[in-house]
Amino acid sequence: MTQRTVLVINSGSSSIKYQLVDPDQGTSLAVGLVERIGDTGRIEHTYNGEETELDVPIPDHGVGLRYVLDLFEEKGPNLAEANIVAVGHRIVQGGKYFDGPAVIDTAVHQKIRDLSPLAPLHNPAHLKGIEVAMELLSDVPHVAVFDTAFFQHLPAEAATYALEKSVAEKYEIRRYGAHGTSHQFVSQTVSAKLGRDDLKQIVLHLGNGASASAVVNGEAVETSMGLTPLEGLVMGGRTGDIDPAVVFHLVRQAGMTIDEIDNLFNKQSGMKGLTGRTDMREIAKLIQEGNPDARAAMDVYVHRLLKYVGSYTAIMGGLDALTFTAGIGENDAKIRTYLCDRLAFMGVKLDEEKNQTRSKEPRIISTEDSAVTVLVVPTNEELSIARQAMTVI
Ligand code: AMP
Repeated sequence: MTQRTVLVINSGSSSIKYQLVDPDQGTSLAVGLVERIGDTGRIEHTYNGEETELDVPIPDHGVGLRYVLDLFEEKGPNLAEANIVAVGHRIVQGGKYFDGPAVIDTAVHQKIRDLSPLAPLHNPAHLKGIEVAMELLSDVPHVAVFDTAFFQHLPAEAATYALEKSVAEKYEIRRYGAHGTSHQFVSQTVSAKLGRDDLKQIVLHLGNGASASAVVNGEAVETSMGLTPLEGLVMGGRTGDIDPAVVFHLVRQAGMTIDEIDNLFNKQSGMKGLTGRTDMREIAKLIQEGNPDARAAMDVYVHRLLKYVGSYTAIMGGLDALTFTAGIGENDAKIRTYLCDRLAFMGVKLDEEKNQTRSKEPRIISTEDSAVTVLVVPTNEELSIARQAMTVI
């Protein structure tokens, strides 16, 4: 078969991440990043192991993407020769409208814009990327792939906040979830690996952002992120679950503004707030050095994971597969051990040798007689976006 490729774009307010993916082979041909848009500007482009770095002023997304296309031309791979057939755009918030990928036309564009109040930092930034990419790569279809889509059909009892109904309806307040592309990709990989679709699964996406999902027979039935990615697990800089009355308290007692509290909860809290560090490698080092704050923070992190695994197991009425993914989930064997040790009462048994083995392949790390199969599956959101884009073009 002739090669086909999809350019996957994740456009942020001051950055554009991109990857050229072969959806059939599951490989990445080139990867890059435009950052500090609107400021000093910087681009990194890697192809064939060769990294090119450019420090140039990048006033807006259009200029940034033009540089990227020039780099494809100069450094490779040539997009025409690579047979680019689509551009896939990662979109954080698809609200109630999207339960799968959608070819971007005027109506889809407008819906992404309409959803901006639910994702004020993300959707407007995605639109900037979409607009310049559609102008510069006008020969191929552009597809929106939504981070919320996998959770669109959560059962009502999981999606609904016990908030006064008319307020919730008017402002479209429900649990939308996030990281859906990763949870979908990983849960499908687990089904393929175990050769079974009829599974009760928990996926723990533990990266700088972190979320859990419960998946029954391929359908998501619960997830830890809510209206926004703030809810749920302890993260690099986010609190995760916290009593909303803390907001009232901080407004009344500390005189803080809503923006200050937003920043506090989303950027200055979580592991960073507890230890001063976001990177688990540094936190592990602090623990080794006997730092009590780091030890206590890890206890909070694992305790929260345990709460979610326990409640999701109860919701599903059992658990067949527990899977770790993303930066921490894939690399941090200690956290896997801490959690699985606490799950021994459910018959979870890790094979420590397998747990310590590093690999880029999906793998089972539990013992043969473990009551739950425990796996590590490297997530690949770009490949998932590329494959989803192919399904609608
Ligand atoms: P992600 O958001 O999925 O890219 O994950 C980023 C996070 O993964 C970093 O902040 C680190 O805390 C964590 N991480 C990456 N490599 C390791 C490692 N070898 N051990 C522990 N944590 C790691």
